[in-house]
Amino acid sequence: MSDYFSYQNNRLCAEQVPLAEIAQRFGTPCYVYSHTALTDGYRQFEFAFAGREHLICYAVKANSNLAILHQLARLGAGFDVVSGGELQRVLAAGGAAGKVVFSGVGKTATEMRLALDAGILCFNVESEAELLRLNEVAGSMGKIAPLSLRVNPDVDAKTHPYISTGLRQNKFGVAYTEALALYRKAAELPYLRVTGMGCHIGSQLTETGPFIAAAEKVLALADMLAAEGITLEHLDLGGGLGIRYNDETPPSIADYAGALLTTLRLRSEKIIVEPGRVLVGNAGVLLTRVEYLKHGEEKNFAIVDAAMNDLMRPALYDAWHRIQPVQRKQLASPLSNSLPQAGERTNVKGDSLIYEVVGPVCETGDFLGHARELAITQGDLLAVMSAGAYGMSMSSNYNSRPRAAEVMVSGATVQLIRERETVHQLFAGEKTFLL
Ligand SMILES: *Cc1c(COP(=O)(O)O)cnc(C)c1O
Repeated sequence: MSDYFSYQNNRLCAEQVPLAEIAQRFGTPCYVYSHTALTDGYRQFEFAFAGREHLICYAVKANSNLAILHQLARLGAGFDVVSGGELQRVLAAGGAAGKVVFSGVGKTATEMRLALDAGILCFNVESEAELLRLNEVAGSMGKIAPLSLRVNPDVDAKTHPYISTGLRQNKFGVAYTEALALYRKAAELPYLRVTGMGCHIGSQLTETGPFIAAAEKVLALADMLAAEGITLEHLDLGGGLGIRYNDETPPSIADYAGALLTTLRLRSEKIIVEPGRVLVGNAGVLLTRVEYLKHGEEKNFAIVDAAMNDLMRPALYDAWHRIQPVQRKQLASPLSNSLPQAGERTNVKGDSLIYEVVGPVCETGDFLGHARELAITQGDLLAVMSAGAYGMSMSSNYNSRPRAAEVMVSGATVQLIRERETVHQLFAGEKTFLL
């Protein structure tokens, strides 16, 4: 448990507000965020890098709600975007275009024009073909595009294969061995200006070693460039710092920054980092209600009103999220994994049992947690913890399920920051085919 989500008199609260009150007022499923957690996390980054010129570019894809972007913009954050849509969100939330870096392997010409018009800080270019397109698009607008190559340092982030991005076999970045030649090319193209170098090796890293290995490779390449007269203004070391979901022991923000700063102590370039998960992951929970308890032949199921369309991480990566009752009970009886007695097939007493926590979506992969010991009964509320990152931003409308509401809490203040979607919104753009 964190300081931001804790039990007060057996009631799980977001800061000072009982989650049960939020469910009552806004319904479920509902994402709830702690404004203080978000702010504290960002300030820890600022503090840790205070000794030198830096820019903290929040990775928007982790959670792109305008209220979150707005608060980070107020605190002085820059942003790492991976689409034109994310750039437009940043601008709508009051973020400064001049603090935006644009990553991603598939930028369209339209997205490049949008970003050039806005005047972003830098394009993180990931291939030769993209380099050529960027030069062409900038030329057609009479502009010069600021550019950094995202190099693939070929280091093992030791994380889940789906969120590892810095290995030779991954689609991301420019091969380390080709980066030098590509920088030479970029330096000669008329509508590009080389300003930096970057890398991003993966997500949910729980050790500093891979970050340092990647940084060292970036530095070695920057030295080779300097020897050819190509100097850089910034080094972008990406995001990826992990959080604690269960028993992981990731480095603190201070330790992570300290390790990077030690590696970079002899450099004068501005440092950019792109944290996503670590800023929002433990700043949010997904609030859901138990619709049914179902005691199958082999397993007990708690069928809740949130599903894989709301929180995809368990289905996608087999991710583990702590699941907590919103009202903590005294255990009604010692744990037994047997079925409740005949006539008690809905476990009305709320005996502690081992449950599969699943959603209503028609997929066996639709689960939020396997084998969780819970003392619950129908109608109870559960909080899926550590759901602030890659939760709402990965949500979908599968099974024509409107997306959840989002609520922000600061102290005792509660505000809706995104209305629950309506079914009508889901098909508003659809048309009948007429012959
Ligand atoms: C996803 C991503 C990030 C953020 O990763 P986290 O693990 O959420 O910190 C940073 N930079 C790039 C280029 C990304 O794609």
